[in-house]
Amino acid sequence: MTINSGNNLTITILGTGTSHGVPIVGCKCDVCTSDDIKDKRTRTSALLSWDETNIAIDIGPDFRQQMLRAQVDHLEGILITHEHNDHVIGLDEIRPFNFISKAPMNIYATLAVQSEFRQRFSYVFDNDPYPGAPRVNFKSIQKDQNIFIRGREIIPVEVTHGNIAVLGFRIGKFAYITDAKFIAHEELRKLEGLDVLIINTLHHHEHFAHLNVNEALELITLLRPQKAYLTHISHKMGKHSDVSKTLPDGVELAYDGLQINL
Ligand SMILES: [Zn+2]
Ligand SMILES: [Zn+2]
Ligand SMILES: [Zn+2]
Repeated sequence: MTINSGNNLTITILGTGTSHGVPIVGCKCDVCTSDDIKDKRTRTSALLSWDETNIAIDIGPDFRQQMLRAQVDHLEGILITHEHNDHVIGLDEIRPFNFISKAPMNIYATLAVQSEFRQRFSYVFDNDPYPGAPRVNFKSIQKDQNIFIRGREIIPVEVTHGNIAVLGFRIGKFAYITDAKFIAHEELRKLEGLDVLIINTLHHHEHFAHLNVNEALELITLLRPQKAYLTHISHKMGKHSDVSKTLPDGVELAYDGLQINL
């Protein structure tokens, strides 16, 4: 797929749903039964594209469908935010990319997240994995150590999510933060001067591990990005069309398939 020419960065929002996705299996609420395509939210993920490079952020349970929908035919790496299943459980689905590239997939993750992968996918990391098992090339990342992928500098931004640490990522004037509840002062400074911020916002109520609407809007007011998109959305947020009318200028709900060009 060529969705980008020159040095521009294109962000494709692959998924915007919280861990159950929207609709939720068995739920008959207005949001889960909505016909609006913007109320169909696969699990939270994004694709960054520049030159001939595609890098995914997270690999959740909807990864295969997301790759098909966005017509991704090569993938050079995956940045992992944290170890929760809605962000990692699609690992087995990297196999087509292993076949295409004839190489292991570069997976950028902290040492703590790598150890979770090794436990959850022990068959992948066996000394003698079966032929056809996914092949992974871990690349260690950590807070305060910028990484370079194919000419782009990526700045990890650590946020707190309940009792675990999660990495967000800044690339130029774009930043992607998911599963945050709290961001320390030093990390907030990495998010100054943005054109576009994507930030998780679960719904309107208090939650121990996720920002709610008021908290996300406070953060956006503080950081003043030119544009902010909310992601990792619960069915309790309400319908996309209703909630959109209540948000301040420059703030929108993200939706699956949204593309942003920078
Ligand atoms: Zn999540
Ligand atoms: Zn529902
Ligand atoms: Zn999480």
